[in-house]
Amino acid sequence: MPGYKVLLLDGIDPAGVEVIQRTKSIEPIVHDKTSRNQVLELVRDVDGIIVRSGTAVDRELIQKAQLLRVIGRAGVGVDNVDVNAATERGVLVMNSPGGSTTTTAEHTIAMLFALARNIPQAYKTLRNHQWEKTKFKGIELSGKTLAVIGLGRIGSEVARKCQAMGMNVIAYDPYINPDAHLSSGLELVDLQSIFEQADFITVHVPLSEHTRNLINKDTFDRMKEGVRILNCARGGIVNERDLYDALKTGRVGGAAFDVFEVEPNTESPLLELDNFIATPHLGASTVEAQRKVSEDICQQVSDYLLKNTVEGALNFPRLEAGQVERYRHFVDLAARLATFIAQICDGRMQTVSIHYSGEVCDMNLNYLTSVIVRSLLAPVLREGINLINAMHVAKLRGIKVQETRLPAPENFTNLIVIELKTDVESHRVSGTVFTDKLPRIVNVDGYPLEVVPHGNMIFFTNNDKPGVIGGIGTVLGKCNVNIAGMHLGREREGGKALALLLVDNPVSNDVIQQFRQIPNILSAKVVHV
Ligand code: NAD
Repeated sequence: MPGYKVLLLDGIDPAGVEVIQRTKSIEPIVHDKTSRNQVLELVRDVDGIIVRSGTAVDRELIQKAQLLRVIGRAGVGVDNVDVNAATERGVLVMNSPGGSTTTTAEHTIAMLFALARNIPQAYKTLRNHQWEKTKFKGIELSGKTLAVIGLGRIGSEVARKCQAMGMNVIAYDPYINPDAHLSSGLELVDLQSIFEQADFITVHVPLSEHTRNLINKDTFDRMKEGVRILNCARGGIVNERDLYDALKTGRVGGAAFDVFEVEPNTESPLLELDNFIATPHLGASTVEAQRKVSEDICQQVSDYLLKNTVEGALNFPRLEAGQVERYRHFVDLAARLATFIAQICDGRMQTVSIHYSGEVCDMNLNYLTSVIVRSLLAPVLREGINLINAMHVAKLRGIKVQETRLPAPENFTNLIVIELKTDVESHRVSGTVFTDKLPRIVNVDGYPLEVVPHGNMIFFTNNDKPGVIGGIGTVLGKCNVNIAGMHLGREREGGKALALLLVDNPVSNDVIQQFRQIPNILSAKVVHV
């Protein structure tokens, strides 16, 4: 009997639906053509939604979907998904970009050939019964310099294929390690060299505030006369108005676009120019790609719902495959330390400072920080908080989260320290994981201890005077609570001290009140980890 429901909209390829069916634990609900109102009804009791670009998964829809845990976009662009609204609600947003790589790279190369040999223009005249041989004389690609801007999935594949076609390929991508491409013979250069050397420039970067208008009037002026420009990435990376002027004057010899600033677009002035060719955002439109992106996203959504594994997430700290499994002991330690400190600290949380040292720094620390913030807030917010919205919720509540890496400490190979400051007090707890992989608290407020935090505990602060421990034992004995372990720490004889008791049964508030009557006990708090 399926336990989850996933709504599949926008004509998701049936191969993905089969992936979900095979889980037997998720019921796929497939609707290809639905009105907005129907969609708003359908989302009420689903755990996941999978769309292409057709359905607006906006704030209203996300609010209606009270059980929603994950939104999957078959393909890349999530312009139709309100990622912020999803994050605020703790809903994971994923996409499946890998399936579009080969398809979009091939489309770019198709455009490259079409641009070099005027294929669309020649075909158009032939349809008009004209036989134009000289007008459409083209150029060879072999031996020409192609500049690839953005050497990610698609850019690298375009580069590799074009090298095989005999082109001299240069590339610009400031965010990759040039060594990764050493063996390919691909030359990584700066933008100025791209503009100076390229016969063809193709962009494969995401659209962002840094890449919008990356290619514009100023850059055209720095390029070779007659350069040809391709954009099969996102509209807006090449400034369309500036391109129009440059094509008109011949400064740019030709351009091929699969994407526009505004889509759909049948009215662009560019479409009037003979040296401009275009397709209506067909980069990912192949049978194979639609099947692949559908299978990928359905697998990712199923894995998230059934195994809690996260791949291709857009609003979640990025983790390399297997990181959570490999560093599960650090995740566990981080969660326990945070759960512990949240319960010993009274007042409104103001600042959380987290210090990571040693081996723990090999892990994605954003992920660990989200784990800590989620665990700090979980006692207050329960279901309302998860790893996706933890940082957002902390910000909304005015809690400042600081994260630092410190050099490896002397006595430990790894250490996580959490300092929590509220409007009434502050505490500091440190923990480590030894070779047995068990999480241990090794210091509380400057007092060294060694405790595996688990189950029911009572945290005391007291003056280091005779009779305190006896008094605690008497109260617990009277209430029939067995002590499983006791850990003591003190600053000096007769000074401030603390005690951490592990007990076999939960302790009621009434017992805590009795502790507070014992002379020299300063505070007593129940902790459950
Ligand atoms: P990717 O994330 O694998 O690669 C993007 C690359 O751009 C990265 O290597 C990154 O380092 C680089 N980059 C980012 N900012 C840069 C900058 N300012 N200058 C130079 N390089 C920069 O992405 P991808 O899957 O290869 O997709 C590339 C583009 O293609 C995206 O815009 C994507 O939306 C688009 N796309 C279009 C279609 C289509 O139908 N036409 C289909 C799929 C993808």
